Amino acid sequence: MMVSVKIDIAEDTLLVGIAAAPGIAISRSHLVNRDRMAVIERRISPAEIDPEIAAFRDAVVKSKIQLLEVKAQADNKELAEHLYIIDTHLLILDDDMLIGDTVSLIRDELINAEGALNRVLRKLRRVFDKISDEYLRERRSDIDSIGDRLIRNLLGETRESLADIDEQVIVVAHDLSPADTVQIDKSKVIGFVTDIGGRTSHTAILARSLGIPAVVGLETVTSLVPDGTPMIIDGSTGTLILRPSPETFRDYLLKKQHYDYLESELLQYCELPAVTRDGYSLALRSNIDFVDEIPAAREQGAQGIGLFRTEFLFMSDEGAPSEDEQFAVYRSAVEQMAPFPVTIRTLDVGGDKFVPEFNLSDEVNPAMGLRAVRFSLKEVNLFKAQLRAILRAAAFGPIRIMFPMISGVAEVRACKQFLERERQDLVSAGIVCGENVKIGIMIETPAAVLIADLLAKEVDFFSVGTNDLIQYCLAIDRGNEHVAYLYEPMHPAVLQALLRICQAAESAGIEVGMCGEMAGEELYALVLIAFGFHELSMNAANISRVKRIMRQVEMSDVKQILDQLFLLSTAEEIATALEKEMHQRYPSIFTEEHI
Ligand code: PEP
Ligand code: MG
Repeated sequence: MMVSVKIDIAEDTLLVGIAAAPGIAISRSHLVNRDRMAVIERRISPAEIDPEIAAFRDAVVKSKIQLLEVKAQADNKELAEHLYIIDTHLLILDDDMLIGDTVSLIRDELINAEGALNRVLRKLRRVFDKISDEYLRERRSDIDSIGDRLIRNLLGETRESLADIDEQVIVVAHDLSPADTVQIDKSKVIGFVTDIGGRTSHTAILARSLGIPAVVGLETVTSLVPDGTPMIIDGSTGTLILRPSPETFRDYLLKKQHYDYLESELLQYCELPAVTRDGYSLALRSNIDFVDEIPAAREQGAQGIGLFRTEFLFMSDEGAPSEDEQFAVYRSAVEQMAPFPVTIRTLDVGGDKFVPEFNLSDEVNPAMGLRAVRFSLKEVNLFKAQLRAILRAAAFGPIRIMFPMISGVAEVRACKQFLERERQDLVSAGIVCGENVKIGIMIETPAAVLIADLLAKEVDFFSVGTNDLIQYCLAIDRGNEHVAYLYEPMHPAVLQALLRICQAAESAGIEVGMCGEMAGEELYALVLIAFGFHELSMNAANISRVKRIMRQVEMSDVKQILDQLFLLSTAEEIATALEKEMHQRYPSIFTEEHI
């Protein structure tokens, strides 16, 4: 329900953040408290003691049921060996220190359930940290794991789901996890703004693929904007206007109409081939997070899927999908996309892609921690199940497999070994799997750039993940609004990296594509065409935009432009020169966009 705004916000108050997803939305704010698993300790009244204890006991029961279900489903032999962990967790759930102490804290010190539980968990962790025996000390992770489960079950009942929003609003949140964002109903949530995040944070990427205007990195928007504030967001410029005056309102209505008109104009490009005026063609593909995005990708003219981010399959409430469940999804993807290929990236969790199910431990530096292929090579049962599902689905159409966050040849070889072993295993069990699955890696680390020539000998294709590559190359956190201004795809170091990658691919005769967000930015299209990428994969809505540019340029021209850019020293000089060139050579391309 909307609450009227009483706070003194001046008319037309302008806040500027980071333009995360284009478009204009006009509505009222809906404030969402989305601190992921943040535990808030508060004093409770004596009347709340019993309900809090009951809620805690419910969470314990729920956790036990979940664990017993996991145990019952684990009929596979390899998993059976590890079932003792579940038994340990079940024992902890009966432990008096955990349960009894939490209940006492609620009752005696009048602390709410999650606050009390959190205190007890902290105490237990301290006990385990002091133990010198390594094995016993490692059991601390059991406490973390069961603690997370309990807290999730406790909070689960009180958290508001974005799926429950039942009127048209602009969501205002500190941050939205990818799992939150995927619950959004586009007919209700028509835009969102957040305190934190950068252009390539996952929340921003998802907003773009949903086609919802978004502004991120506004730093304090959640504390400034009460529920129900009338507002306008312009996701193309990264601006938010609070309490718009009638004149501003009218201006933005016109801008919105114009934006919508330009969007509809772009549809004419969907059916046309992606080819330059002098006949150079490259594949424009789509990035997807879910298989049900494929029909839209096809409508936009995608010639395949250049990046299927499979981690989103693992973010549902039901937990990690089984091999068969994954197989069904990948098979459906490949059948819907045929004859074009589907590039399935193996699980890329960690970093800002937090999947609660995996109980990833708190890492001081998650972006450099146990993420992506490192996680897969550790959690080998999950990895094997995914590889098997992909191999089986490959029998139904062209599939390419891609490993994320590679930093060395040894990792690639390890992945290929797993893949080969699973293939042999499937074949000897008489299970049909696809032939000729192309193997590729994402180039996302500076190490991979520097040894691109060595890596190129190991694989069939490269796909450049600029979201991470720029993060690691320029040493800026892709989700941190304070350093977002340093996120510069036109930084000379990035251009040098791209050159090196493309040259290594060319010498080895393998394909090279790009699936980072840079691939879908109109301004960079020229540069990427000039580098000689064979594929650009982007969010489906950008395919027509990039194609429109491609169809107006000549390869010889864009190569000249790129040569000139290499003579410049700063990202700003390069970006300015690029814009100037574009305006001079192709005045028709940008004029409409810059109105
Ligand atoms: C990238 O890093 O550019 C990429 C495409 O992967 P993700 O954004 O999923 O990390
Ligand atoms: Mg990445």
